[in-house]
Amino acid sequence: MRLPEPERAIPYLAGNQDNPWEGLSTRSDALSLWNKSSFYSLIMPGGVLLLLVAVAVHTGWVSMAAPSLAFLYYCALGAGALLAWRFHSSRIFLALIVLFLAKTAIPPNFMHMASGTSAWDIVVAAGVLVPVNFILIASIEERGLVWTGIAPFALFLFVQVVIVNVLTRAAETPGASVHHVAVPSIPTYVLVAFAGAAICLLVRALVTCKPPDAALFWALAAFFLSLEFHRAPRVSAAYSVTAFVVLAISVVESSYLLAYRDELTNLPSRRAFNDAILRLQAPFSIAAIDIDHFKKFNDTYGHDTGDQVLCLVASRLARVTGGGQAFRCGGEEFAILFPGKTCGEVMQDLEQLRANIQSSEFRIRGSDRRQVPRGADRRTGRTRTRRHKGDAIRQLARPRTETAISVTVSIGVAGPSSITSAVEEVLRAADKALYRAKANGRNRIEISSRRVDRARAAGIA
Ligand code: GH3
Ligand code: MG
Ligand code: MG
Repeated sequence: MRLPEPERAIPYLAGNQDNPWEGLSTRSDALSLWNKSSFYSLIMPGGVLLLLVAVAVHTGWVSMAAPSLAFLYYCALGAGALLAWRFHSSRIFLALIVLFLAKTAIPPNFMHMASGTSAWDIVVAAGVLVPVNFILIASIEERGLVWTGIAPFALFLFVQVVIVNVLTRAAETPGASVHHVAVPSIPTYVLVAFAGAAICLLVRALVTCKPPDAALFWALAAFFLSLEFHRAPRVSAAYSVTAFVVLAISVVESSYLLAYRDELTNLPSRRAFNDAILRLQAPFSIAAIDIDHFKKFNDTYGHDTGDQVLCLVASRLARVTGGGQAFRCGGEEFAILFPGKTCGEVMQDLEQLRANIQSSEFRIRGSDRRQVPRGADRRTGRTRTRRHKGDAIRQLARPRTETAISVTVSIGVAGPSSITSAVEEVLRAADKALYRAKANGRNRIEISSRRVDRARAAGIA
């Protein structure tokens, strides 16, 4: 690892002059919205479910009676609320309430209603308010399902309900016939509200790759379709149910990701690794990877910069060739599984990976700003007197320097030998090979030697 002189730096994302985002690909992945993983996390499972429902209801493959749909509706609502409560997902809980209020306010037979009636006004109000509320929910920080967290939004919802009630009653034309006027179509401003909210939610879902954000987008789409197809009550009801199901599933999806994804690097976690090795069958290879001198790196540049380096390395590992799958096993230790590949077959891929990580630079924007403590200390320490204030201003005006940093990794690789194909043994052999890579100077790959395996097996015997 190259360690330039420490600069008390503020980490920022840049790799080379041509591409300022090169170097810290976690952020670059977020910016290139249409990468494979963000697309996958967007469409699975909400998009696929909505598509299946659309195909089913419009082709007539599945036709359900109204009572069955009503039953499904309450099941999905109940299950969603229960899951959101158990898994502390306030955003999904609030989204369910918003949809429930909208669906309850809209009369079931509103397809027979006409413009100018309170029923149609409620439809229009729901068409504007649901997208607005969804955007607000998406922007709320998830702090668990605690009363203090959801109370302001609940109050805001209550105010909306009161206002819509008052306005629609006031606007109602006394004695208006509800059966003789042609059903109006959804006004343009409602369509604009849905389109605007959909774009915001879509971008957010692609950036965060989080199930609740994708679910808000698909639930809004399903709710829109339920309004759009208001002339076909069963189709409309099927889309309503879908909106609730999508929200409920996202809670399960989130908890799955919590258990199986590493939050910092977004790689599959140790638990996923433990599951994956159970499925391995010879031939296979396991690579154990460890960042070189990472402790020194942390001590020099700080834990936050260390975290960013972990993300950088993880993003390179995630793109390993040869069919390998990378995992974060803990700390700065990673593993790659190559099912169906022998050690010899994966050496080239690992060498490419090692060289790729070594050549991946990222820059730390250095200035003396961080030498100034934050908060109150900063003020008292540096700007208390006029003279110190002048110094501080001069410091801030000084051009910032950039420091290029790169890290290296050591890799130990092993596969089942003629003596043992037990995964635990192979793992141990990969670890031993990794230690050898460290001992032999780091930034290198060591393959588990058969001789060592045999000697150890003989020892065990
Ligand atoms: P070697 O080349 O021998 O591997 O040296 P090393 O310093 O990398 O070895 P060691 O395993 O002793 O250090 C690992 C360090 O990784 C210790 C800890 O500070 C750091 N670390 C572990 N997890 C994290 C993390 O999530 N974020 C950051 N920033 N640092 C971490
Ligand atoms: Mg280590
Ligand atoms: Mg290390």
